[in-house]
Parts: sequence; C-alpha cells; structure tokens
Amino acid sequence: MALFWLPWGLFNRGPRDPGERARRMVEEQLRGRGVTDPRVLEVMSELAREDFVPAPLRRAAYEDSALAIGYGQTISQPLIVATMSQLLQLRGDERILEIGTGSGYQAAVLGRLAREVVTVEMVPELAEAAQARLARLGLTNVRVAVGDGWEGWPAAAPYDGILVAAAAPSIPPALVGQLAPGGRLVIPVGPKDGDQVLKVVRSDGSSQDLFGVRFVPLKRG
Ligand code: SAH
Repeated sequence: MALFWLPWGLFNRGPRDPGERARRMVEEQLRGRGVTDPRVLEVMSELAREDFVPAPLRRAAYEDSALAIGYGQTISQPLIVATMSQLLQLRGDERILEIGTGSGYQAAVLGRLAREVVTVEMVPELAEAAQARLARLGLTNVRVAVGDGWEGWPAAAPYDGILVAAAAPSIPPALVGQLAPGGRLVIPVGPKDGDQVLKVVRSDGSSQDLFGVRFVPLKRG
C-alpha cells in the first residue's frame, strides 16, 4: 500500500483546501519577510486568493508572484499587498480609498482591515467583475467605482488612507488633497518599466521613500 501511495505525493503540489493554502502562503511568504501586523497576517490567511484569479491560474493563486488578470493588468504579489496594507497602519475604523481595483483582492484585504473602502478602476470590465466577486464573498463595505484614479474619488473624501496599486509618474496632487489630517498615501512612483519607488506620503505633503518596486503604470484618463 505504501508503495502505491508514494507517487501521489509527486503530483500533489501542496494542499487543495484554500484555507490551508492561504495559511501556508502567509507562513512561507509574509511572516519573516517584514510583515508583522497580526491583523494583516490573519486577514490574508483567511481570504482565498484563488477566488480573485482567472480559472486557469487557480493552481498558481498562492505563488510568490504577481499574476495576469487580463487587460494587460496583474494581481500584485502577496508580499506587496501585505506590505502596502501594513503601511496604512489600520485599526479597523478607517475609511480607505484604493486606486486600481484590478481583481479586487487588495480591496478585499482592505475591506477586512478597515471600516469602509472605495476602490476606483479605469477598465469597466475589471470593475464589474471585481464588484461581483466582492459581493459574492460578502464584502459589503467595499464599493467599486469606475473612473480615473489620478483624480482620486472626491465624492467620498477625505480618506484616512489611500493605496495606489499602479505606478504614477509623480505624486498625484488630488490624492494628497483627499487625505484626512494624519492620513497616509501609499504609492509607487516612477516611470513605466523603469525604477519605481514605494512612497508613503502624509497629509502635509511630506514623504518617505521605502524600496524599489515594479508595478503596471497608472494611466491618465
Ligand atoms: N489592486 C489590484 C491590482 C491592480 S493592477 C489587485 O489586487 O488585483 C493596477 C490596476 O490599476 C489595473 O486594473 C488598471 O486597470 C488600474 N488602473 C491603471 N490606471 C488607472 C487609473 N488612472 N485609474 C484607475 N485605475 C487605473
């Protein structure tokens, strides 16, 4: 019997249960790589990342990389989602703006960490798919809007935190203007396919550079 079962291990690449796969992702890729916020670790171990990727990529959903989600866009690497979420220093009562909904995964993480999330996406098809997905998963505190995030989303401003999931050529002034006092903007800044740096910008306009990153570009409407 033991010999009969042995080869199965060669084909079975890790657990199938999404909960177990997400927990492993957290242990192997996030904990010990600078992600220390216990709420971020907990939320990411509970959300099934495979619900946010195209069906053919479900097996790859917990890999340590960005994945293509169509329309030339990507769902960010789990470590980047965790790090950017942690940088917002959320406690649970905040109102958050995300620019670049994509699959909706980052918005779902933020929805579990904060009180309310508005997320803006320029590609209507992606926005629609993300909204349906978030509703199906019961994330009723996340609202998807279609528009050009370069202008933020003034209708629901100010925000305690703003997270931009695409690289901007420079810091969009409208976003700084939509921060509540003491709020933080987490944003990759730099040219398309070039040296981009992750920045944290405060409501008074002061900013801090963190480390080099690689994001798809923030488009201008
Ligand atoms: N946060 C996403 C990943 C986003 S990829 C996730 O968790 O899956 C970046 C997204 O930003 C893409 O979907 C792209 O269409 C969108 N985008 C690019 N420029 C934009 C802009 N000016 N306004 C709103 N969305 C934009």
